[in-house]
Parts: sequence; structure tokens; C-alpha cells
Amino acid sequence: MEDFNAANEIQDLQYFGEFGGVNPSISDSSTYTFLSAKTMFDTFEGNADGCYLYSRHSSPMNLYLAQALAKLENTAAANVTASGMGAITTVLLQLCKSGDHIISSRTIYGGTYAFLKNFLPPFQIETSFVDISNFEAIERAIGPTTKIIYCESVSNPLLEVADLRKLSALCKKHNLKLVVDNTFSPLSVSPGLLGADVVIHSLTKFINGSSDTVGGVYCGTQEFINDTKNVNSGACMLLGPTMDSLRSSSILKNLRTLHIRMKQHSCNALYLAERFERDGLKVSYPGLSSHKQHELLKSMMHAEYGFGGILTLDAGTTAKANELMELMQKENLGYLAVSLGFYKTLFSCSGSSTSSEIPEEERVSMGISDGLIRFSIGLDHDIERTYQRMKACMLKTGVLAP
Ligand SMILES: *Cc1c(COP(=O)(O)O)cnc(C)c1O
Repeated sequence: MEDFNAANEIQDLQYFGEFGGVNPSISDSSTYTFLSAKTMFDTFEGNADGCYLYSRHSSPMNLYLAQALAKLENTAAANVTASGMGAITTVLLQLCKSGDHIISSRTIYGGTYAFLKNFLPPFQIETSFVDISNFEAIERAIGPTTKIIYCESVSNPLLEVADLRKLSALCKKHNLKLVVDNTFSPLSVSPGLLGADVVIHSLTKFINGSSDTVGGVYCGTQEFINDTKNVNSGACMLLGPTMDSLRSSSILKNLRTLHIRMKQHSCNALYLAERFERDGLKVSYPGLSSHKQHELLKSMMHAEYGFGGILTLDAGTTAKANELMELMQKENLGYLAVSLGFYKTLFSCSGSSTSSEIPEEERVSMGISDGLIRFSIGLDHDIERTYQRMKACMLKTGVLAP
């Protein structure tokens, strides 16, 4: 695993612009001309490599970005989409048809949960939600119609780590596909190397990192990517969550600094998590040895990128959490906002925002308490200074007892 370094792979990819530009030219076209009618026909049939037909199917810039993201995840191919949900729904609808069954971790992104729980059942696609660390329960849930095990490598918002090697072995045994959302741990975890069949990212988060666009990607075999783009039966081609070329161009440029940003996010988050824990706060961060899956994540990750930029803190009640977040925002320590991976620290109360799709009773049983604040730690230059100022806010609001 240590021989593979995605940052080197991406760095080695060169794309020049039309006039020798250091960045590839943006293709500002939805459609493409053909010199001969025969080539157009062949392209429709999928037999004319290197020819573009229509930008819902492919465009040069989207292929460049997809190629770089395939390098990131060490897969043969990838396809970019207009959002993370565009990637997730495409993959699930490509792999599952009416009558099929999905096993999913119960601690997943709220939108994914809502899609599995509410949107798919009318199409006769049912999901069993499981504790992803309970392998007996997972194996019991597998039936003759099960097609997929779905999870997040590091889950939103609880930061549970999935044992991808074990899940992959289970999938191979039962002939299932392992689909992994790796949004929280780009570069640090490579699910493909641990046996995942399809790896998904919301590009909106760390990979783009500037909170100026939504985007998504799924990475897998060339055959799977081709299937999703098939003009007759491909979920991506037919549902149409196409990323715009201008956007893929800006995401590709931001991808170039991902390795530097991830190290800084991780370094800052670990610093804060260690101090908060020492102060007696209820903090959860996979880089702390008190975290249940600390050793597991260590055994799965590329150490140089650290344990990621996300930590959670339980402020006790929603009211306390809100008071603290408002004060921290007033002190310019971060923004009260959903999403993650920005240069600035972002915080939100998961139960009343990004996980509000999950019914309260289930939230409680998973461990998403009312006062749980999810922090996406920013790229702060002087994290000790940030820590001192955050601590002052916690003392002032009584989240931390003097
Ligand atoms: C944000 C997020 C998504 C959804 O991505 P969008 O780009 O908002 O559609 C999916 N999974 C995880 C883990 C996320 O954090």
C-alpha cells in the first residue's frame, strides 16, 4: 500500500492548453462536428475512441478531471458528475434494479440516507441499515437479492471508520459490490486498494476545497464507467447529472493543491482535538487514541495525510451548541455553515442540519446527540492562537467549566 502515492500520480499528469497554456483549454461546447457521417454513427455506437459527440456524454475537460480522480483513487477510470448526490444516485441506480436489495451503513450522509430510505423503495429497491462494524449482523442481512454493501470510509458525522478490507472479503464471498463514499478522507484512505469496487466523492468538499461549487465523481473499472455512460442504458447518460466544463476546469486546478491542504487540515484538527480532550471536552476525532477505530484507521491510511480535518464536539444541548457556534462566528473563528473542506473552519449542529433527514429516534440510537457540533477545521496558520480563542468561547458559553 505504501508504494502507491496518489499525489505523485496526479503530479505526473500533464495537460497543456490549445496554445501551449499550462492549464488545459476549457471546451466551451455542448456539441461537436464530424467530418464524416460514418464517424458520427460509430461514436454513437461507442466505437470511435477520442471523438466527442455531445457534452452530456463526455467533454475534454471532464475527461481530464476524471482521469486525475481515477489516479487519486487508483482505479482504471472515473466519471465526474454535477454533485456528490449525482454520483451516488448514478452508481446505485446502475448497480441495482427493481427487486434488488442494498445493505448500507446506518451512519451515512443525510442525503444518501434519504435516497435509500425514501426514494428507492417505490422502485422496489430496499435497503437494510446496519451497524457497519457488526459483521454478524451484516452477514445475516445478506439475501439472494442483495447486490451492494454501501458505506463511507469515515462516516458523516460520527467519524466511524469502516473496515474496508473485511467488508471487501465479505463482498467477494457473497458476490456483492462494495461501494464506498470517501468524501471525508481523500488521499489518506484509498478504498480501491483495500478492495472497494466503486469509490465515490463529493468534490464539493475537500477535493475542490473552496466552497464555490458542487460536484461529484465515481471511480471504478473502465467497464463500469462505460456502462454508466451507455446511450441506451447508462444511469449517468440517461439521468443527466452532467458537470459543466468551466466547473471541472476550476476543480482540476484546486485538486493540484489537495495534498498540501489535507496535511494542514489534519494537523490543525489533531492539534485542537488533543487540546479539547485534555480540557475535558467530549471530543471525537479518529486521530485520538480514545477513538474506537483509531487503530483500524491507522492500519488503512497513508499516514502522511493524517486523520482528516473533521472532528465533533458534544456541547450537551442544541441550545448550548448554537450559543457556542454563534459566538465563535462572531469572533471570526469560523462560519456557522454546513459543508466541509473550506480554508475557513465551518461548524454546524448535525442533528438539526445535515443529518436532519434521519428520524430523531434513529439519530439517538446511532449516537448523533442534539448538542453534537461537527467541525471542519480550516487551514489556520497559527492553530495555537485559534485554540486559545476557541477555548475562551467555550468558557464564556459554559460548554467548558472553568
Ligand atoms: C456532502 C456529501 C455528499 C453529497 O455531496 P453533494 O456534492 O452535496 O451532492 C455525499 N456524501 C458525503 C459524505 C458528503 O459529505
